[in-house]
Amino acid sequence: MSLTTLSAAELGRLLSRRDVAAREVAQAYLDAIQRKDPTLGAYLTVDPERTLAEADVAQSKIDAGDAGPLGGVPVAIKDNISTADQRTTCASKVLKGYIPPFDATVCTRLRDAGLVGLGKVNLDEFAMGTSCENSAFQLTHNPWDPDRSPGGSSGGSSAAVAGGIAPLALGSDTGGSIRMPASLCGVVGFKPTYGRVSRYGLVAFGSSLDQIGPFGRNVEDAALLAAAISGHDPRDSTSLARPPIATDALRSGRLHGIRLALPLELMSDAAEPGVLDSVRAACAKLEAEGATVEEVSTPSVRYGVTTYYLIAPSEASSNLARFDGIRYGSQVDGSGHVGTVAATRGKLFGHEVKARIMIGTYALSAGYYDAYYVRAQQVRALMAQEFETLFDRFDAVISPTSPVVAFRLGELSRDPLALKLLDTCTIPANMGGFPAISIPCGLSDGLPVGLQLMSPVMSDEKLLQLAWAAEQVLGSLDLPLG
Ligand code: GLN
Repeated sequence: MSLTTLSAAELGRLLSRRDVAAREVAQAYLDAIQRKDPTLGAYLTVDPERTLAEADVAQSKIDAGDAGPLGGVPVAIKDNISTADQRTTCASKVLKGYIPPFDATVCTRLRDAGLVGLGKVNLDEFAMGTSCENSAFQLTHNPWDPDRSPGGSSGGSSAAVAGGIAPLALGSDTGGSIRMPASLCGVVGFKPTYGRVSRYGLVAFGSSLDQIGPFGRNVEDAALLAAAISGHDPRDSTSLARPPIATDALRSGRLHGIRLALPLELMSDAAEPGVLDSVRAACAKLEAEGATVEEVSTPSVRYGVTTYYLIAPSEASSNLARFDGIRYGSQVDGSGHVGTVAATRGKLFGHEVKARIMIGTYALSAGYYDAYYVRAQQVRALMAQEFETLFDRFDAVISPTSPVVAFRLGELSRDPLALKLLDTCTIPANMGGFPAISIPCGLSDGLPVGLQLMSPVMSDEKLLQLAWAAEQVLGSLDLPLG
């Protein structure tokens, strides 16, 4: 038996029965990282001593009967989530060497539940991107084919889970950054309802859209991790006063009688034929189990990319103002205060980040604010309304997660518009704050295709049940874990 091929839930069961020790599991993963990460490039920081020390703390919790169902299970953490006394770089030169003095709430919760931090994983700089190629430090490779992108921005998270060098990972999703890479790597990625997981300690990108969520090799693993990190947090003013996500009824999920809406605009020929075929085949399998799938029209999603790429950069331009070379991370000397700030920001931010700061600043400036930012907010409200109306008649909306399978590294890096259009299917859930999940639904040209399910705000439990039931019918992929 190889510990690194087991699901997180299975590992948790072995650990709680004390058939295996937390230290053994951690060591097995540290060995796998040492062996495989030189080709995958998922990790930015691995600290074996720290991981083993955390495993010992987890073991005492397990021994005391204090750990949750994932007690002793390791988890990789996206490097825009603050970890006390451990580098948190956002894959940006601006934060090179920055060591937060505090933990993000999700990290505190992981520790309380007995999980073990395995290291910090790569992302597009400040989570801005769709391929992980905007990292200032390294490329991450898709475990299905090292010449291809793992997706982004949480590409380190998806590659680690699919490639057998983490059983679980945390990512963040502002416009699709959990679901899209999950889709390209053939794993499960879940964006909970906005406010269900605390953003305290997540380095802010687009604060009204950002949400932390789990990656797992199956729905149960993702659900258990979501349960561990969710729940109200007084340190995040947008946190919902609701209990953590419950998983006890996960396996009661049924397809019979479930009404699914399939938006035609998300099934357009902008998507690859192989992706559309897989999604249609998946719909047919769900229908064979008693679900109904009805084609609907959601005209507003055509404006999703345009709208998102005004709102997210606007919020980013304000959030990233704090990186002045004085308060955090690295500094480039210039003449005087203004010169130093200008030199730091000019030299240390990457191209995509600078482009977004400029777009956002423009959209928010006097004279343009109404034409761009306010207009975008109006379209956002319209889109949220359109989906809410759908949710009156349907249990969930179904679509491809990404219009394409994993593309070659470098293939789209000179075509920013093509990259941004890949967010079409994932953006609506961020705009409306509702939960959405990507599960694998087959292969196209030997590469994974993701199926997205979206449901009303605060229906996270029902969505996970539905995804679990769909997974039983669609089966899982043979991941390149070895
Ligand atoms: N691809 C989108 C972007 O570049 C989404 C990023 C995200 O969700 N963090 O902004």
